[in-house]
Amino acid sequence: MAKATAHIDAVIVGAGFAGLYTLHRLRGLGLSARVFEAGSGVGGTWYWNRYPGARCDVESMDYSYSFSDELQQEWRWTERYASQPEILSYINHVADRFDLRRDVQLETRVTAAVFDDATTRWAIETDRGDRVSARFCVMATGCLSDAQVPDIKGRETFAGRWYHTGRWPHEGVDFTGQRVGVIGTGSSAIQSIPIIARQAAHLFVFQRTPNYSVPARNAPLDPDYERRVKAGYAEFRRQARESRVGFVVERSEESALAVAPAARQREYEKRWSRGGLGFSAAYADLLTSQEANDTAARFFRDKIRGIVRDASVADALCPQDYPLGTKRLCVDTEYYATFNRDNVTLVDLRKTPIEAITPHGVRTREAGYEVDSLVFATGFDAMTGALLNIDIRGRAGRTLKATWAAGPRTYLGIAIAGFPNLFTITGPGSPSVLSNMIVSIEQHVDWIAPGPGTWARTCPASRASSCPTSAASASTVRSATTSPQKATRGSR
Ligand SMILES: Cc1cc2nc3c(=O)[nH]c(=O)nc-3n(C[C@H](O)[C@H](O)[C@H](O)COP(=O)(O)OP(=O)(O)OC[C@H]3O[C@@H](n4cnc5c(N)ncnc54)[C@H](O)[C@@H]3O)c2cc1C
Repeated sequence: MAKATAHIDAVIVGAGFAGLYTLHRLRGLGLSARVFEAGSGVGGTWYWNRYPGARCDVESMDYSYSFSDELQQEWRWTERYASQPEILSYINHVADRFDLRRDVQLETRVTAAVFDDATTRWAIETDRGDRVSARFCVMATGCLSDAQVPDIKGRETFAGRWYHTGRWPHEGVDFTGQRVGVIGTGSSAIQSIPIIARQAAHLFVFQRTPNYSVPARNAPLDPDYERRVKAGYAEFRRQARESRVGFVVERSEESALAVAPAARQREYEKRWSRGGLGFSAAYADLLTSQEANDTAARFFRDKIRGIVRDASVADALCPQDYPLGTKRLCVDTEYYATFNRDNVTLVDLRKTPIEAITPHGVRTREAGYEVDSLVFATGFDAMTGALLNIDIRGRAGRTLKATWAAGPRTYLGIAIAGFPNLFTITGPGSPSVLSNMIVSIEQHVDWIAPGPGTWARTCPASRASSCPTSAASASTVRSATTSPQKATRGSR
């Protein structure tokens, strides 16, 4: 049943890292704000993605908020890369520590956000019948939150259990003794496959596109490193913000082609043994010269062939048709070695595409694979999915769907022309997954909420038309969409 309309300053959609920080900042400006979150807990990505092996691939001392020195000093990460349960505890701790929960309404999906030209306010509706009128609407809906199960013929006939990595059951899944099929070989698959393989009687991995993956070398967090970072956290964060990707890596200014092959090999070996995403910074031109990139891609293929004993399996696991780093590099623990296990079979869908899911498993063009459980590690309707699921209408009733009919066109930005006072944190104009996303999130939110009292001073409701982010000024809205480009120091 529809409830009476509430009037507040800002509605925030989503209670992940972005939504919670937005709430904290807006409160600091003295604004009234309410967060609506579809899930039954806070945490966003880390609430939903509970698959075995889920963890971040940006190191934990980097992948955390920097806005409170007390918070960053008191919190203790236990591993080099934090696991999903630990990140979820962290974000719950943040929600409690900053008393955020009282303005977060869980299990509530925002279904519509409609701009009223006359009042210059947003009318927000939820699937629980809430009606809220707000001057500002912040879409903290996440760029990887709309889980996608592919529409494969016969999917509904499958008689076993199936799961999506991004909607994993809270009680966990025990695959002991089961035949399991994992569809997809992106980052979530690469993290979960080694663990599922250790449980399952047999694991079939259905791969369309092989990925480049570098070892994580995860380990307990070195207490000396933690002490050093904490002693100079402000400087550590400053360098992260000013780096290319939101965390500092040893970045070479040299061309991969300017060094002798033996020296290049030593450099690649050093980075492979160190583990993690720093590999891509080995040479300055890995992403600008195909020839330079080929040297790194060859190194990866040699590694895969050195690890995986069956030459045809190794070949199928080697990416061949796109340069290293043009999809976000994956970070793994024992991924390639898992294919040496007797109970693991790689099915190369480029050779034998899936024709159908049957009651008992998966049928490809050449064979049938019987499984008890299926895992869809098939990712998300990324970047725009969560936004387009909401009926968003801007000036003169124009829908976001129509505005983005040919895709979102702005290069970097968190506002959309024609949608005044609506912001998209980690939307399609954010560097998002090409960066340490916490750095990007803090930058975007700080750009919206630059300092205590700013909105209150410059954008009184009665003078909405003079507000820098208001409906009345298309040019300022346009400049809002480009400003983060200048300000996004911590990201690409
Ligand atoms: C498995 C995995 C691992 C990752 N690892 C890293 C990493 O190592 N480093 C990194 O930088 N990034 C990583 N990311 C990206 C990660 O998404 C971001 O780092 C970050 O958590 C995004 O926060 P967010 O608040 O913007 O979005 P999210 O955490 O996605 O939160 C968005 C929230 O909005 C809610 N929502 C969406 N639509 C609605 C609606 N209509 N109504 C109500 N609620 C809604 C969703 O339920 C969700 O809880 C990873 C992502 C995944 C999936």
